[in-house]
Amino acid sequence: MQDFEQFFLAETGLKLKKDVALSDYSSFKIGGLARYFVEVTSSDQLVKAVSAVISCRFPFYLIGGGYNLLFDDAGFNGLIIRNKALAINYLSKRGLLEVDSGSDLQPVVRFAVSKGLKGLEFLAGIPGTVGGAIYGNAGAFGQSIGEKVSEVLIFSRERRFITLKQSELGFGYRFSNLKKDHQVVLKALLALEPGDKSDLEHQIKDYLEQRRRKHPPRSVACAGSYFKNPVLSDGQKVAAGLLLEKSGARGMQVGGAAVYPGHCNFIINLGGATARDIKELARRLQEAVHKNFGLWLEEEVIFVPADASML
Ligand SMILES: Cc1cc2nc3c(=O)[nH]c(=O)nc-3n(C[C@H](O)[C@H](O)[C@H](O)COP(=O)(O)OP(=O)(O)OC[C@H]3O[C@@H](n4cnc5c(N)ncnc54)[C@H](O)[C@@H]3O)c2cc1C
Repeated sequence: MQDFEQFFLAETGLKLKKDVALSDYSSFKIGGLARYFVEVTSSDQLVKAVSAVISCRFPFYLIGGGYNLLFDDAGFNGLIIRNKALAINYLSKRGLLEVDSGSDLQPVVRFAVSKGLKGLEFLAGIPGTVGGAIYGNAGAFGQSIGEKVSEVLIFSRERRFITLKQSELGFGYRFSNLKKDHQVVLKALLALEPGDKSDLEHQIKDYLEQRRRKHPPRSVACAGSYFKNPVLSDGQKVAAGLLLEKSGARGMQVGGAAVYPGHCNFIINLGGATARDIKELARRLQEAVHKNFGLWLEEEVIFVPADASML
C-alpha cells in the first residue's frame, strides 16, 4: 500500500490521510474508518485524484457534504474523496451560472441573488454540494435542481471529459441517471432568469421560515428525509411522514436511532447510533407502513457499504 500512497502523491501532489473516521464527514455522525481519505479543493485536483485511482483500479467513493449518506459501521475499504471544489462564475452573455460540483448550495444561491438571477430560491436551506444535489435531484417546494441544469461536465471512467445535456441526465423525483451509472460530476451550468433582488430575498426568507418550522434544527444528527414520498398508482404523491405517523412510527427507536418526534420521516442519531441501528429502524418502519398501507417505502438516504466503489 506504500506504493499506492506514493503513486497518488506523485500524480496529484496530495497526501492521503489514513484511517479517517467517516462519522466526522456525515451529518448522521455515523461510520467506521476510511482506509484512505483526501480532500480536493479544485476541479483540477478532483480530476487528478480520480484519474490516479482509476489508473490503478483502486476502489474509491466521491462525497460532497455527506448530508444524504449513511456510512457503514465497517468504514470504507478504499479511498474517500471529499469534494470541496468551490468555483462559481457568471457567464453573463449566456445567462448561465458555471459552478464547480463541490460548491455548497447556499453560496451558490446567494451568488445568484447578488447577480439578480432567479430560479434557485427553493434550494435555500438545503445542505450539501451542487454535485450531491444533481446526483439525487435535490429539491423542495415542488421544484428540483434538475429543472435548472443546462448541462454537466463529467469525468468518465475512461478518463474522458464528457458533456451531458439536461435531457441526457434523466432527472426525476430524487433521481438522475447518475444513480444508475455513478460518474463523477465536475461542473454544472445552471440556466437562470433575471429577477428582482428584493423579491428573491423575500422568497428565500419565506422558504427558510417554512423549513425551520418543519425540519429538525441543525444540531440534530440526521440525513434529511429518510424515505422518498411514494407515488400511488393514480400518479398522486403521498407524504411518507404522514404514512409513517399513521403507522405508529412516532416513538420508535432502535439503539441510538430514533424517529424524530416533530416529523416521522426523519430518522435521527440520538448519540452513539450505528448504521446497523439506523437500518434496522428503517426496516421496521417500512414493515409498519407496508402492513397498514400495502406500500414499501424506498430509502432516499444512500447507504455506502464498506466495499462500494465508483470504478
Ligand atoms: C437537515 C437536512 C435537510 C435536508 N433537506 C433536503 C431537502 O429539502 N431536499 C432534498 O432534496 N434533500 C434534502 N436533504 C438531503 C441533502 O441535503 C441532499 O441530498 C444534498 O443534495 C446532498 O448533497 P451532499 O453534497 O451532501 O451529497 P453527499 O451526501 O455527500 O452524497 C450524496 C450522493 O451524491 C454523490 N455525489 C456527490 N457529489 C458528486 C459528484 N460531484 N459527482 C457524482 N456524484 C456525487 C455521492 O457519491 C453520493 O452517492 C437534507 C439533509 C439534511 C441533513
